[in-house]
Amino acid sequence: MMKNWIAFLIVVIALCCGAVNNDGPVIKEWSKIVDEKPVYYMTIDGVMVHEKDPAKQPYPLVVRPGEKCGDAPSDAFVLFDGSEESFKNNWTDVRGKNTKWIIKDGVMQPTKHSGYIQSEKSFGSCQLHVEFRTPANIRGRGQGRGNSGVFLMGQYEVQILDSYQIDDKLNEQGKAIYDNPTYPDGLAGALYGRKKPEVNVCRKPGKWQSYDITFYRPIFKDGKIDKKAIFIVYQNGVLIQFEELIGGTGWRGPHSISNYRYHDDKLPIKFQDHGNPVCFRNVWIRPIKDNR
Ligand code: MG
Repeated sequence: MMKNWIAFLIVVIALCCGAVNNDGPVIKEWSKIVDEKPVYYMTIDGVMVHEKDPAKQPYPLVVRPGEKCGDAPSDAFVLFDGSEESFKNNWTDVRGKNTKWIIKDGVMQPTKHSGYIQSEKSFGSCQLHVEFRTPANIRGRGQGRGNSGVFLMGQYEVQILDSYQIDDKLNEQGKAIYDNPTYPDGLAGALYGRKKPEVNVCRKPGKWQSYDITFYRPIFKDGKIDKKAIFIVYQNGVLIQFEELIGGTGWRGPHSISNYRYHDDKLPIKFQDHGNPVCFRNVWIRPIKDNR
């Protein structure tokens, strides 16, 4: 019997020591003999598995979802809801002055040479919902057609482009009138210059589309990149990115892209003016924990 107890203690000590992982939650395991049978216990970051006491494991806050898919939930910060008020209160040009973007029929869009628009508030890690529409009136080609972009922290771009593609079956029957060839890492949904989207799930030009972006900001240590950014992006409800961003997304010539450069923990969201009248509506954001 004594031998069994010693063996049991050795197992417990080994489990406790071996389960501490600096890269993840701290897990501890042990067991007790109850009615001559072992009962197993585990804590994750000090909280017992299936702990019911809310003082030890608080329940999540209740958040009411929006009525329709894409509507802002109750805890979101609404950046644009179609009203003049939300536009004026939340958006400026890149110098923090009045923007030349306009609202028309409840949607916002750039005007000629208006430049990027940026949120008045700054954000780091976040969940961001954006609805956008590339022009129905098709003009230009490649990167010159329906180009805009959603810039997290003002610099990490999820590309917007007219990348609608008739599927192969239809292509065999006639000319692909929406065909807009460009490099894959510059398509709509690309992390520009860094990673093409997993699939092309674009709607036709003139149709509303959505991006739902979960973004974990990069973390810098002593001025250098310590933890790279992570993007999880759904376009029109379909997963197109789950990616650790290798570096920046700034254009640096036809075959090069920017690297990480130290910046603040929170920075404004920006939408690009690339000379194409891409429209935006229903923009909301939920700051989230860095969690890494
Ligand atoms: Mg762009």
